[in-house]
Amino acid sequence: MEHDLIVVGGGLIGASFARAARGSRVALVDPAAPASSEQARVPEDLDSRIYALSPGSVAFLEQIKAWQEIAPERKCAVRSMRVRGDDAAACLEFDAYDAGVPELAWIVEERELRRALWQALATQDAFVHFAGSACTSLEADADAVHLALADGRRISARLVVGADGARSFVRGAARIEVSERSYAQSAVVANFSCARPHFNIAFQWFQGGPVLALLPLSGERVSMVWSTGEAQAAQLMAASPKELAHRVEQATGSELGALELITPARVFPLHCVSATRCVAPRVALIGDAAHVIHPLAGQGANLGFQDARVLAEVVAGAGTLRDIGELRLLRRYERSRREAVLAMRATVNGLFELFGAESGALRRLRNIGLNLTGSLPVLRNVLARRALA
Ligand SMILES: Cc1cc2nc3c(=O)[nH]c(=O)nc-3n(C[C@H](O)[C@H](O)[C@H](O)COP(=O)(O)OP(=O)(O)OC[C@H]3O[C@@H](n4cnc5c(N)ncnc54)[C@H](O)[C@@H]3O)c2cc1C
Repeated sequence: MEHDLIVVGGGLIGASFARAARGSRVALVDPAAPASSEQARVPEDLDSRIYALSPGSVAFLEQIKAWQEIAPERKCAVRSMRVRGDDAAACLEFDAYDAGVPELAWIVEERELRRALWQALATQDAFVHFAGSACTSLEADADAVHLALADGRRISARLVVGADGARSFVRGAARIEVSERSYAQSAVVANFSCARPHFNIAFQWFQGGPVLALLPLSGERVSMVWSTGEAQAAQLMAASPKELAHRVEQATGSELGALELITPARVFPLHCVSATRCVAPRVALIGDAAHVIHPLAGQGANLGFQDARVLAEVVAGAGTLRDIGELRLLRRYERSRREAVLAMRATVNGLFELFGAESGALRRLRNIGLNLTGSLPVLRNVLARRALA
């Protein structure tokens, strides 16, 4: 076998795992072209897909020499968070200073992050990218896993890592069951310039169902993620640039002054997807292939980077004598990830239900909860610490 392991899917999570597993001979299959071919961007040319990354994810990206590839002006530190409830007086603030860390998160464009990961992969020994073709069949036997690609090529390895997103082919081929439900919301994302400085604050408004976030970008610019019902999402997408900016301004009480749209809006339907297992003989799932959660806490990719780091550690720990596709070994990865994934999903779904509930009593409770949490520094810091992992 020419490869020790095959990664199916070269999105953020698959590419970061391929990089973290650099002690092994890695093949990566993804029909999309490598992002390293993308041109360096001028500051005004922003990607409308933006990620909030936890300090834990940034440390991992540093370790695999990708974070260093992103120009400083394309990453923006979040120093505090301001969360408002649907009662205007309910407000919770988190501060990096209080939490004893230099920053709570970093905001970065997807395109820049992808480019950085692929740039790092371009220098990696024993790394092969099977571009231009998707994986169409997977068979595992006692010694190896065999994949066929749409263009007829066939490859084998000891282990296949499914990083092929929410509709994972690998998950289906390995007969791993999945539970899925729609949040009955879509997220509208877009970037704006703002008239007032954001002071590196990430703002979030829980609006009794919809959740609106404005994340700071370098310069006087912010990135919006507005998760809302299908009808309102369609209205936002149909709005003219001026009208959209006006609606966001209104919804945020003009906290950042006048807004101007600087990238076209994009929309993403929101689902909760949970694979019942994340390993099978010679198969491991990472990232959205294993779990998809609501973006209200900005934690989906962060969970995926943790998967990538832990699985790479398990593979490296196996050494050269042990078979890295062995189910007993892969279960170590599954065990290490179970609790963190369950806890994050429960937190996100709990917040989604609590802030979406119509009942007047719950409405009061959630707003009191925000104020109470804000005035209890210990609880506030416990919450901040969870978000930093
Ligand atoms: C609006 C929104 C905002 C978000 N904001 C945040 C945030 O701020 N912070 C955060 O941590 N997370 C955030 N998330 C979550 C985050 O987007 C995902 O968790 C993350 O992108 C998952 O990456 P992935 O690599 O697992 O999957 P994907 O990005 O879906 O990549 C899958 C890859 O697999 C490839 N592929 C698919 N099928 C095949 C096949 N058969 N053969 C070969 N290749 C295949 C595809 O080409 C693709 O490149 C957000 C999500 C949404 C919707």
